[in-house]
Amino acid sequence: MLVSAKEMLEKARDGHYAVGQFNINNLEWTKSILLTAEELRSPVILGVSEGAGKYMTGYKTVVGMVNGMLEELKITVPVALHLDHGSYEGALKCIDAGFSSVMFDGSHYPIDENVAKTAELVKICAQKGLSLEAEVGSIGGEEDGVVGMGEVADPQECKKIADLGVTMLAAGIGNIHGKYPENWPGLRFDALENIKALTGSMPLVLHGGTGIPEDMIKKAIDLGVAKINVNTECQLAFAAATRKYIEEGKDQQGKGFDPRKLLAPGAEAIKATVKEKMELFGSVGKA
Ligand SMILES: [Zn+2]
Repeated sequence: MLVSAKEMLEKARDGHYAVGQFNINNLEWTKSILLTAEELRSPVILGVSEGAGKYMTGYKTVVGMVNGMLEELKITVPVALHLDHGSYEGALKCIDAGFSSVMFDGSHYPIDENVAKTAELVKICAQKGLSLEAEVGSIGGEEDGVVGMGEVADPQECKKIADLGVTMLAAGIGNIHGKYPENWPGLRFDALENIKALTGSMPLVLHGGTGIPEDMIKKAIDLGVAKINVNTECQLAFAAATRKYIEEGKDQQGKGFDPRKLLAPGAEAIKATVKEKMELFGSVGKA
């Protein structure tokens, strides 16, 4: 059964580790992530962007697939199904469809409008026992075609949103989505400390987990980050393994064209990436 992310994130915050959010795109992604979480006894958050939801034909399909897998694969670790960077309308749709957690990304609105819309969703999620992630200060890079510049969130605005009673807060601290440029200056730990000082025990979320050096990840966890989002890294691992399979001509040997064989190396590569991240985040054995 899907669970809210609240309890797993509070445990992570108190235990000084982070829970990974791994975005899903299809059956192979979902299966690889769930099996790895179960094998490593780690809590996990499955992230679904609005684009990925649309790709999978809609949120109801996603809920049906994930619930089916939890049962058929006998998954016993805590799993949250979470909308990633949702619009207000998208969040409502996911709540209706059966997601256990949603993110409302109102970071592109003026702060008062972000506060008003987030407050509405706090009420709805509280009634239904769902967790809610809010965002302050847009996170750079590209997310479903929307390009941000990697802002540093204003700590006072973070406090305003945190005080509404959200479950977790994503605040820009110089992190960006996708691959990091060569000249990226690194995470702004000064900003993270200022945000933490004003938001208290609120679990913080680090987006754009792909390519942040390990020591920076560990320091961010020490400073209050309890959830880290990983998306691009699984995509890169899947693509590289699939490319290798084709370039080695394996699709042309025997029944190598069978989609279950063709997609297997990519699925294994996702498992390896998820395992590496869970070990780095410290969530192994915490389920
Ligand atoms: Zn993000």
